[in-house]
Amino acid sequence: MKENNEIAVGIDIGGTYIKAGVIYKSGKIIEKVKIETKHIKKNLDLINCITRILDEFFIKYPLLNKIGIGAPGPLDVNKGIMLKTPNIKGINNCSIISLLKKKYQKNNITLFLENDANCATLGQKYFGIAKKNSNFVVITLGTGVGGGLILNNQLYTGSNNNIFEIGHTHIISQEFLSDRIPLKKCGCGSYGCLETFISIKGILYYYDFFNKDNINAKKNDDVSKIAQLAQKKYKPAQKTFELAGTSLGIALSNIIYLINPPLIVITGGLSVFSDLFEKKMYDVLKKRLMKAFYQKNRIKFTNGDENSGILGAASLCFEKTSQH
Ligand SMILES: [Zn+2]
Repeated sequence: MKENNEIAVGIDIGGTYIKAGVIYKSGKIIEKVKIETKHIKKNLDLINCITRILDEFFIKYPLLNKIGIGAPGPLDVNKGIMLKTPNIKGINNCSIISLLKKKYQKNNITLFLENDANCATLGQKYFGIAKKNSNFVVITLGTGVGGGLILNNQLYTGSNNNIFEIGHTHIISQEFLSDRIPLKKCGCGSYGCLETFISIKGILYYYDFFNKDNINAKKNDDVSKIAQLAQKKYKPAQKTFELAGTSLGIALSNIIYLINPPLIVITGGLSVFSDLFEKKMYDVLKKRLMKAFYQKNRIKFTNGDENSGILGAASLCFEKTSQH
Protein backbone atom coordinates (compact mmCIF):
# COMPACT_ATOMS: atom_id res chain seq x y z
CA MET A 1 0.00 0.00 0.00
CA LYS A 2 2.15 2.78 -1.33
CA GLU A 3 -0.29 5.51 -0.35
CA ASN A 4 0.23 4.73 3.35
CA ASN A 5 3.42 6.76 3.17
CA GLU A 6 1.27 9.66 2.20
CA ILE A 7 -1.36 9.43 4.92
CA ALA A 8 -1.35 10.77 8.43
CA VAL A 9 -3.68 11.07 11.39
CA GLY A 10 -4.68 14.44 12.80
CA ILE A 11 -6.18 14.61 16.29
CA ASP A 12 -7.60 17.92 17.46
CA ILE A 13 -8.26 18.04 21.21
CA GLY A 14 -10.74 20.81 21.87
CA GLY A 15 -12.80 21.91 24.86
CA THR A 16 -16.04 20.36 23.56
CA TYR A 17 -14.92 17.69 21.08
CA ILE A 18 -11.98 15.54 20.15
CA LYS A 19 -11.95 15.43 16.37
CA ALA A 20 -9.73 13.05 14.47
CA GLY A 21 -9.19 12.12 10.88
CA VAL A 22 -7.05 10.15 8.47
CA ILE A 23 -5.87 12.35 5.65
CA TYR A 24 -3.84 12.22 2.46
CA LYS A 25 -0.95 14.62 2.09
CA SER A 26 -3.12 16.43 -0.44
CA GLY A 27 -5.45 17.39 2.42
CA LYS A 28 -8.22 15.01 1.42
CA ILE A 29 -9.87 13.56 4.54
CA ILE A 30 -10.65 9.86 4.12
CA GLU A 31 -11.93 9.07 7.60
CA LYS A 32 -13.32 11.32 10.31
CA VAL A 33 -14.67 10.96 13.88
CA LYS A 34 -15.86 13.39 16.53
CA ILE A 35 -16.23 12.50 20.23
CA GLU A 36 -17.56 14.73 23.01
CA THR A 37 -15.10 15.53 25.80
CA LYS A 38 -17.61 15.99 28.62
CA HIS A 39 -17.04 12.46 29.99
CA ILE A 40 -13.29 13.09 30.32
CA LYS A 41 -12.46 13.59 33.99
CA LYS A 42 -8.83 12.51 34.20
CA ASN A 43 -5.73 11.83 32.09
CA LEU A 44 -6.57 8.15 31.58
CA ASP A 45 -10.04 9.00 30.19
CA LEU A 46 -8.39 11.13 27.52
CA ILE A 47 -5.88 8.42 26.60
CA ASN A 48 -8.67 5.81 26.42
CA CYS A 49 -10.73 8.06 24.21
CA ILE A 50 -7.83 8.57 21.79
CA THR A 51 -6.90 4.88 21.74
CA ARG A 52 -10.50 3.98 20.89
CA ILE A 53 -10.23 6.24 17.85
CA LEU A 54 -6.76 4.99 16.86
CA ASP A 55 -7.68 1.31 17.26
CA GLU A 56 -10.39 1.82 14.63
CA PHE A 57 -8.02 3.67 12.31
CA PHE A 58 -5.35 0.94 12.60
CA ILE A 59 -7.87 -1.76 11.65
CA LYS A 60 -8.60 0.04 8.38
CA TYR A 61 -5.10 1.44 7.75
CA PRO A 62 -2.62 -0.97 9.43
CA LEU A 63 0.44 0.76 8.02
CA LEU A 64 -0.42 4.14 9.51
CA ASN A 65 2.63 5.44 11.34
CA LYS A 66 2.37 9.19 11.70
CA ILE A 67 0.07 10.89 14.17
CA GLY A 68 -0.17 14.61 14.86
CA ILE A 69 -1.92 15.91 17.95
CA GLY A 70 -3.06 19.50 18.42
CA ALA A 71 -4.00 20.48 21.97
CA PRO A 72 -4.71 23.64 23.89
CA GLY A 73 -1.79 24.85 25.99
CA PRO A 74 0.03 25.01 28.20
CA LEU A 75 2.09 22.09 26.89
CA ASP A 76 5.61 20.83 27.29
CA VAL A 77 6.08 20.01 23.61
CA ASN A 78 9.61 18.62 24.00
CA LYS A 79 8.52 16.12 26.64
CA GLY A 80 5.13 15.48 24.98
CA ILE A 81 3.10 16.52 28.00
CA MET A 82 -0.22 18.35 28.29
CA LEU A 83 0.38 20.33 31.45
CA LYS A 84 -3.18 21.59 31.94
CA THR A 85 -6.19 22.12 29.72
CA PRO A 86 -8.47 24.98 30.81
CA ASN A 87 -11.56 23.58 29.06
CA ILE A 88 -11.11 19.91 30.03
CA LYS A 89 -10.89 19.86 33.80
CA GLY A 90 -8.91 16.96 35.25
CA ILE A 91 -6.16 16.92 32.63
CA ASN A 92 -3.00 17.44 34.58
CA ASN A 93 0.55 16.65 33.49
CA CYS A 94 -0.72 14.13 30.97
CA SER A 95 2.23 12.40 29.23
CA ILE A 96 0.13 11.87 26.15
CA ILE A 97 3.01 11.10 23.77
CA SER A 98 4.81 8.48 25.88
CA LEU A 99 1.53 6.78 26.87
CA LEU A 100 0.39 6.46 23.25
CA LYS A 101 3.83 5.43 22.09
CA LYS A 102 3.86 2.61 24.64
CA LYS A 103 0.39 1.47 23.68
CA TYR A 104 1.25 1.31 19.95
CA GLN A 105 4.84 0.13 20.30
CA LYS A 106 4.40 -2.63 17.73
CA ASN A 107 3.02 -0.20 15.16
CA ASN A 108 6.24 1.80 15.24
CA ILE A 109 4.49 5.15 15.20
CA THR A 110 5.90 8.66 15.22
CA LEU A 111 3.90 11.14 17.25
CA PHE A 112 3.87 14.91 17.17
CA LEU A 113 2.36 17.30 19.69
CA GLU A 114 1.87 21.01 19.20
CA ASN A 115 -0.40 23.70 20.58
CA ASP A 116 -3.61 24.22 18.66
CA ALA A 117 -2.81 27.73 17.44
CA ASN A 118 0.49 26.54 15.96
CA CYS A 119 -1.38 23.65 14.33
CA ALA A 120 -3.89 26.09 12.84
CA THR A 121 -0.95 28.04 11.46
CA LEU A 122 0.71 24.98 9.90
CA GLY A 123 -2.67 23.89 8.56
CA GLN A 124 -2.89 27.14 6.57
CA LYS A 125 0.59 26.49 5.18
CA TYR A 126 -0.12 22.94 4.01
CA PHE A 127 -3.81 23.00 3.18
CA GLY A 128 -5.14 26.54 3.46
CA ILE A 129 -5.04 30.04 2.02
CA ALA A 130 -1.34 30.48 2.78
CA LYS A 131 -0.12 27.52 0.68
CA LYS A 132 2.07 29.67 -1.55
CA ASN A 133 3.41 31.98 1.18
CA SER A 134 6.62 31.53 3.13
CA ASN A 135 6.04 34.39 5.59
CA PHE A 136 2.66 34.91 7.24
CA VAL A 137 0.70 35.28 10.43
CA VAL A 138 -2.44 33.37 11.44
CA ILE A 139 -4.94 34.65 14.00
CA THR A 140 -7.62 32.31 15.37
CA LEU A 141 -10.79 33.89 16.74
CA GLY A 142 -12.75 31.40 18.83
CA THR A 143 -13.39 30.74 22.52
CA GLY A 144 -10.12 32.60 22.98
CA VAL A 145 -7.78 34.33 20.55
CA GLY A 146 -4.51 32.71 19.48
CA GLY A 147 -2.14 32.79 16.59
CA GLY A 148 1.05 31.67 14.97
CA LEU A 149 3.85 32.83 12.76
CA ILE A 150 5.56 31.23 9.77
CA LEU A 151 8.95 32.77 9.04
CA ASN A 152 10.99 31.69 6.03
CA ASN A 153 8.64 28.74 5.51
CA GLN A 154 9.04 27.45 9.07
CA LEU A 155 6.88 27.62 12.14
CA TYR A 156 8.50 30.06 14.52
CA THR A 157 8.31 28.42 17.94
CA GLY A 158 9.99 30.96 20.19
CA SER A 159 11.99 29.79 23.16
CA ASN A 160 9.53 27.18 24.46
CA ASN A 161 6.78 26.83 21.85
CA ASN A 162 4.60 29.37 23.61
CA ILE A 163 4.52 32.30 21.24
CA PHE A 164 2.25 34.67 19.41
CA GLU A 165 -0.30 34.97 22.21
CA ILE A 166 -1.87 37.88 20.40
CA GLY A 167 -5.04 37.38 22.45
CA HIS A 168 -3.22 38.56 25.57
CA THR A 169 -1.57 41.59 24.07
CA HIS A 170 -3.06 44.81 25.40
CA ILE A 171 -4.96 47.09 23.11
CA ILE A 172 -6.55 49.75 25.25
CA SER A 173 -6.96 53.01 23.42
CA GLN A 174 -8.47 56.44 23.89
CA GLU A 175 -11.59 55.34 21.96
CA PHE A 176 -12.53 52.90 24.73
CA LEU A 177 -11.76 55.24 27.59
CA SER A 178 -13.79 58.17 26.22
CA ASP A 179 -16.82 55.93 25.60
CA ARG A 180 -16.61 54.57 29.19
CA ILE A 181 -16.50 51.01 27.97
CA PRO A 182 -15.77 48.75 30.95
CA LEU A 183 -12.83 46.39 30.80
CA LYS A 184 -13.52 42.69 31.27
CA LYS A 185 -11.02 40.69 33.28
CA CYS A 186 -9.20 38.30 30.97
CA GLY A 187 -8.60 34.61 31.70
CA CYS A 188 -4.91 35.48 32.07
CA GLY A 189 -5.73 37.82 34.97
CA SER A 190 -5.15 41.10 33.09
CA TYR A 191 -7.48 43.77 31.77
CA GLY A 192 -7.45 45.18 28.25
CA CYS A 193 -6.39 42.03 26.38
CA LEU A 194 -7.56 41.64 22.75
CA GLU A 195 -9.28 38.36 23.66
CA THR A 196 -11.65 40.17 26.06
CA PHE A 197 -13.17 42.03 23.07
CA ILE A 198 -13.09 39.62 20.11
CA SER A 199 -13.65 36.08 21.32
CA ILE A 200 -16.86 34.22 22.04
CA LYS A 201 -16.65 35.23 25.71
CA GLY A 202 -15.86 38.83 24.78
CA ILE A 203 -18.78 39.14 22.36
CA LEU A 204 -21.22 37.75 24.97
CA TYR A 205 -19.88 40.12 27.65
CA TYR A 206 -20.07 43.30 25.57
CA TYR A 207 -23.43 42.42 24.06
CA ASP A 208 -24.76 42.30 27.63
CA PHE A 209 -23.15 45.64 28.36
CA PHE A 210 -24.51 47.43 25.28
CA ASN A 211 -27.92 45.82 25.77
CA LYS A 212 -28.29 46.78 29.44
CA ASP A 213 -30.66 49.70 28.83
CA ASN A 214 -33.16 47.54 26.98
CA ILE A 215 -35.66 46.50 29.64
CA ASN A 216 -36.86 43.60 27.52
CA ALA A 217 -33.33 42.35 27.01
CA LYS A 218 -32.73 38.67 27.44
CA LYS A 219 -29.31 37.33 28.27
CA ASN A 220 -27.90 35.85 25.09
CA ASP A 221 -25.37 33.06 25.17
CA ASP A 222 -25.20 32.36 21.45
CA VAL A 223 -22.83 34.41 19.34
CA SER A 224 -24.55 33.46 16.08
CA LYS A 225 -27.85 34.87 17.40
CA ILE A 226 -26.08 38.12 18.34
CA ALA A 227 -24.61 38.17 14.83
CA GLN A 228 -28.10 37.75 13.34
CA LEU A 229 -29.32 40.69 15.45
CA ALA A 230 -26.37 42.77 14.21
CA GLN A 231 -27.26 41.86 10.63
CA LYS A 232 -30.78 43.14 11.36
CA LYS A 233 -29.16 46.39 12.54
CA TYR A 234 -30.02 45.95 16.24
CA LYS A 235 -27.79 48.62 17.79
CA PRO A 236 -26.37 46.79 20.87
CA ALA A 237 -25.39 43.82 18.69
CA GLN A 238 -23.88 46.09 16.02
CA LYS A 239 -21.88 47.99 18.65
CA THR A 240 -20.56 44.70 20.07
CA PHE A 241 -19.13 43.64 16.71
CA GLU A 242 -17.85 47.15 16.00
CA LEU A 243 -15.94 47.11 19.28
CA ALA A 244 -14.54 43.70 18.31
CA GLY A 245 -13.44 45.15 14.95
CA THR A 246 -11.81 48.19 16.56
CA SER A 247 -9.89 45.92 18.94
CA LEU A 248 -8.77 43.63 16.14
CA GLY A 249 -7.66 46.64 14.07
CA ILE A 250 -5.49 47.89 16.94
CA ALA A 251 -3.94 44.43 17.44
CA LEU A 252 -3.29 44.07 13.70
CA SER A 253 -1.66 47.50 13.48
CA ASN A 254 0.72 46.42 16.28
CA ILE A 255 1.57 43.20 14.41
CA ILE A 256 2.11 45.10 11.15
CA TYR A 257 4.40 47.66 12.78
CA LEU A 258 6.43 44.88 14.39
CA ILE A 259 6.81 42.32 11.63
CA ASN A 260 4.97 43.67 8.58
CA PRO A 261 3.93 40.20 7.34
CA PRO A 262 2.89 40.02 3.66
CA LEU A 263 -0.17 37.93 4.62
CA ILE A 264 -2.38 37.74 7.71
CA VAL A 265 -4.91 34.89 7.76
CA ILE A 266 -7.81 35.26 10.18
CA THR A 267 -9.56 32.01 10.99
CA GLY A 268 -11.60 30.34 13.76
CA GLY A 269 -15.33 30.25 14.46
CA LEU A 270 -15.78 34.03 14.72
CA SER A 271 -14.15 34.68 11.36
CA VAL A 272 -17.43 33.70 9.67
CA PHE A 273 -18.88 36.97 10.99
CA SER A 274 -16.15 39.12 9.45
CA ASP A 275 -18.70 41.20 7.51
CA LEU A 276 -19.86 42.54 10.89
CA PHE A 277 -16.47 43.75 12.08
CA GLU A 278 -14.11 44.16 9.14
CA LYS A 279 -15.20 47.70 8.25
CA LYS A 280 -14.22 48.95 11.74
CA MET A 281 -11.05 46.89 11.57
CA TYR A 282 -10.01 48.57 8.28
CA ASP A 283 -11.02 52.04 9.61
CA VAL A 284 -8.65 51.56 12.52
CA LEU A 285 -5.85 50.23 10.32
CA LYS A 286 -6.18 53.17 7.94
CA LYS A 287 -6.15 55.63 10.83
CA ARG A 288 -3.27 54.09 12.74
CA LEU A 289 -0.87 52.86 10.10
CA MET A 290 1.56 55.09 8.26
CA LYS A 291 1.07 54.92 4.52
CA ALA A 292 4.05 52.66 3.89
CA PHE A 293 2.47 50.01 6.16
CA TYR A 294 -1.12 50.08 4.92
CA GLN A 295 -1.95 47.35 2.40
CA LYS A 296 -5.60 46.40 2.23
CA ASN A 297 -5.19 43.07 0.49
CA ARG A 298 -2.88 41.37 2.93
CA ILE A 299 -5.65 40.36 5.35
CA LYS A 300 -7.68 37.27 4.42
CA PHE A 301 -10.55 35.65 6.30
CA THR A 302 -11.02 31.88 6.00
CA ASN A 303 -14.66 32.11 7.13
CA GLY A 304 -14.19 29.09 9.40
CA ASP A 305 -13.62 25.48 8.50
CA GLU A 306 -15.02 22.53 10.38
CA ASN A 307 -11.97 20.39 9.48
CA SER A 308 -9.22 22.92 10.14
CA GLY A 309 -8.30 21.40 13.54
CA ILE A 310 -7.81 17.91 12.06
CA LEU A 311 -5.86 19.24 9.07
CA GLY A 312 -3.71 21.45 11.31
CA ALA A 313 -2.83 18.52 13.61
CA ALA A 314 -2.10 16.23 10.64
CA SER A 315 0.15 18.85 9.08
CA LEU A 316 2.56 18.32 12.03
CA CYS A 317 3.39 14.99 10.38
CA PHE A 318 4.59 16.78 7.27
CA GLU A 319 6.64 19.36 9.15
CA LYS A 320 9.89 18.07 10.66
CA THR A 321 9.63 19.48 14.17
CA SER A 322 9.07 18.19 17.70
CA GLN A 323 9.48 14.54 16.79
CA HIS A 324 8.90 11.83 19.40
ZN1 LIG B 1 -5.28 38.04 28.69
